[in-house]
Amino acid sequence: MSTGNGNVLLNDFARLWADIGPDVLAATSAVGESGWYVLGREVSEFEREFAAYSHVDHVVGCASGLDAIELGLRSLGLQPGDKVLTTPMSAFATTLAIVRAGGVPVFCDTDQNGLLDLDRAEQAFERDAQLRHCVPVHLYGHVLDLDRLEALQRRYQLRIVEDMAQAVGGHWRSRSVGSVGQVSATSFYPTKNLGALGDGGAVLTSDAGVDAACRRLRDYGQSAKYIHDVIGLNSRLDELQAALLRRALLPRLPKFTQRRREIAQAYLQGITNAKVRPLAPPAESASVWHLFPVLVDASQRTAFCDHLRARGVGSGLHYPVLIPDQKALLNTSFEVIGELDNARVLAAGQVSLPIHPYLDAAEVARVLAAVNDWS
Ligand SMILES: *Cc1c(COP(=O)(O)O)cnc(C)c1O
Repeated sequence: MSTGNGNVLLNDFARLWADIGPDVLAATSAVGESGWYVLGREVSEFEREFAAYSHVDHVVGCASGLDAIELGLRSLGLQPGDKVLTTPMSAFATTLAIVRAGGVPVFCDTDQNGLLDLDRAEQAFERDAQLRHCVPVHLYGHVLDLDRLEALQRRYQLRIVEDMAQAVGGHWRSRSVGSVGQVSATSFYPTKNLGALGDGGAVLTSDAGVDAACRRLRDYGQSAKYIHDVIGLNSRLDELQAALLRRALLPRLPKFTQRRREIAQAYLQGITNAKVRPLAPPAESASVWHLFPVLVDASQRTAFCDHLRARGVGSGLHYPVLIPDQKALLNTSFEVIGELDNARVLAAGQVSLPIHPYLDAAEVARVLAAVNDWS
């Protein structure tokens, strides 16, 4: 089946629907017939099933990945003005959640592949005793060094919220993503590896106190009906989205991840153009390849994307503006530690190639041909 006018798309929702449509309609009927639309059985069953898949004790469904990070930080006791170390190279939501939770973002540079540089992070924790919270991001689906992260957590008594919105199902050696942070946060935005047909997110934790705190916070801060203990928000995962996730999407996730990995291997082996450098994960990182990022010379990026488009190949930029350079932060306090040289190179020269699970072999070959004959 061909969609998107014969172009190779970054995401192909027509093919997704052709596959999952019947399961989605059945799930929708089940919710409709139940007559229960908010915080019912579908949400609690999905939370249980997703916790098992993710090797954590508790999952709390919420309205978005942004909210999941905020709920996570607040449940760890973040106080207004507390500093939070994070990366300048991510979706803006990572930092927005820190600011919304009352934290002061502290940025340090990434490594040359775009992941938070844990050497620099360690220097920051060493120098600043007030910096004891961290929101690391498993960018592109590449899992950060979890052994190292855990060592930092122990040494500096860190409270960590892992942003795993791009890395659901990923591993570092045999450790699951989300297993080091006291809390992890993910998103079910439609383009994510586990995407709903609308917005959604989840907090993952094995700490019963964090679980209880997040359940309160997502539901107006209620501890019991009409009893409000804290200033919460309305951030509930819909029954409908939970039903689609557990009945149509989560069962397909292992197959989706496998296909993403096959495509990534084909690209890693097949890209021979010396002007195009794949941003590969560390060898111990079993990436789930949310994106397939490459780096080209900044002065030629537009020409590269134009060339791909002329060959019918879509592309994206993740992300072209560093978070501390965003206008929204102009009147917000934040800190930048050292220079952000690696992140700046990526912001200026990174390009994402198509890698969704419905890409077929002919399309993978087309992407490779377009990349390799660019000069
Ligand atoms: C998508 C994403 C978010 C935000 O998730 P939403 O559900 O869109 O709020 C946060 N962090 C990262 C790394 C993301 O990719």
